Amino acid sequence: MNAVVVGGGLGGLSAAIRLAHAGWRVTLFERQAELGGKAGTNTLGPYRFDTGPSLLTMTHVFERLFSDVGRRLEDYVTFRPLETICNYFFDDGTRLFAYGDVERFAREIEEKTRDDAAAVKAFLERTREIHDTGAALFLERSLHEWSTYTRLDTLRSLLRFGRIDPFRSMDAAHCAHFSDPRTVQLFNRYATYNGSSPYRVPATLDIIPYVEYVLGAFAVVGGITAIPRALERLAREMGVTVVTGAEVTRIVVDRGRRVRGVAWRSADDKEADASRESEFTPAETVVCNVDVTVAYRDLLDDEVAPMARRYRRLEPSSSGLVFYWGISRSCPELDVNNVFFSPDYPAEFRALFDELCVPEDPTVYVNITSKVTPEDAPANGENWFVLVNAPRNEGQPWDEIVPRVRDRVLQRVSRVLDRDIAPYIAVEDVMTPADIEARTGSNKGSLYGISSNGRLAAFLRHPNRSRRHRGLYFCGGSAHPGGGMPLAVLSGTIAASLIERYER
Ligand SMILES: Cc1cc2nc3c(=O)[nH]c(=O)nc-3n(C[C@H](O)[C@H](O)[C@H](O)COP(=O)(O)OP(=O)(O)OC[C@H]3O[C@@H](n4cnc5c(N)ncnc54)[C@H](O)[C@@H]3O)c2cc1C
Repeated sequence: MNAVVVGGGLGGLSAAIRLAHAGWRVTLFERQAELGGKAGTNTLGPYRFDTGPSLLTMTHVFERLFSDVGRRLEDYVTFRPLETICNYFFDDGTRLFAYGDVERFAREIEEKTRDDAAAVKAFLERTREIHDTGAALFLERSLHEWSTYTRLDTLRSLLRFGRIDPFRSMDAAHCAHFSDPRTVQLFNRYATYNGSSPYRVPATLDIIPYVEYVLGAFAVVGGITAIPRALERLAREMGVTVVTGAEVTRIVVDRGRRVRGVAWRSADDKEADASRESEFTPAETVVCNVDVTVAYRDLLDDEVAPMARRYRRLEPSSSGLVFYWGISRSCPELDVNNVFFSPDYPAEFRALFDELCVPEDPTVYVNITSKVTPEDAPANGENWFVLVNAPRNEGQPWDEIVPRVRDRVLQRVSRVLDRDIAPYIAVEDVMTPADIEARTGSNKGSLYGISSNGRLAAFLRHPNRSRRHRGLYFCGGSAHPGGGMPLAVLSGTIAASLIERYER
């Protein structure tokens, strides 16, 4: 039996590995030269950068993918737990270390803010309840199959629905629990982990601080890019045929809307003659790792499909503006992950979701992989991945916006570090929301599919099995259960298990 996977992001790789292990003949088409999608890599002279994701959580998801197919993750890639998950710099001069050890983190909050350690531990206990009640249901199963709702553990989760705190916003929950605005801001930041606003997402999303502080946050030796490399190796070992530089132009369905295969052309053909006929690869099953909205528009030519119409109405998650700076000195006061908070967080999210512009004075995130992987930068240098939250791409004039934001970022970071950073930028590159859209095919450059800015978002994501096109399955950040590396991997797992159930 033949399966085709369209797109070599983490979701597509996960589905391909599981299907090949289950005995399918799998071909994976990726239009870029390398697999990984948003988890790409970029080299500028002696500096190497991860292009997208930087913080890894829920490593058990990756471990399970390897062990389920008879391999050990540690033979392919090394995850390193972060002793200090993140350095937080507040505008009032407070510097706070978010330690991976909960006791130490709670004491740090007590020392640096008006909240006490007990409040932090009680908060994380509440997040445990959210996780234990909702994680299996919302992250590991399809929410769109009846069989999910006949399971005892699902019924138990649904009976305890109130415990996942779905009726108030994350910010309201944090304001009720903590008294210091800095603690509130620190925990509000977790809404951005899936491109949403803390003033609109349900407090259920407090599952994110649970996975970060209790299950742990990790760096990857060799950078995040080592993850797609490891998955690619595993996929090839499982027998997946990987075709890179190959763009799928159409998911071919017959009159009865049954999938028949894909039409594709190599990047070279496209370059030589855009109108050149595509090749056809037959398959009984197609797993689409391409953004759902883009797939309906470009690959299925089915924009009237109810799901396509629904997705056009849903709000995409936020995007990002990324500066890649090769810095010609080391900054010992920085760690792997560093956040320089904006003084006005509500204004930041109004800009992102209401005004659709980059905040005037944005929060700045700096990730430095060379702190873990020294080869990523020359001696005494550092590779700074600098991210500010940006709105989805609606054709804003990015050429004008980029220099303005660059100045603001430099001002903020230089002020906090008490040192002008600009002269130390040896090489640089930038990625705007429009670039993210063009390079990874995400709808409007959104980082995580649709936003979670609504109580029902979890139920509105695209099902992993298409009801309209038989044999068609979806995985990746725009499908259930959503964006973020582990969730993308889980989406591939869910898609593969549905294929086993329905297509055998
Ligand atoms: C700047 C940034 C920061 C992020 N930070 C984090 C983080 O810290 N932690 C975290 O967990 N997550 C983070 N994420 C999100 C995470 O990267 C994604 O959720 C995840 O990698 C998405 O995987 P995916 O399976 O949806 O595939 P994608 O990465 O979206 O890949 C899809 C692939 O399909 C290919 N494709 C598209 N169209 C076609 C076609 N027609 N034919 C063939 N191939 C096609 C694309 O080239 C691409 O390779 C971040 C993302 C970005 C961009």
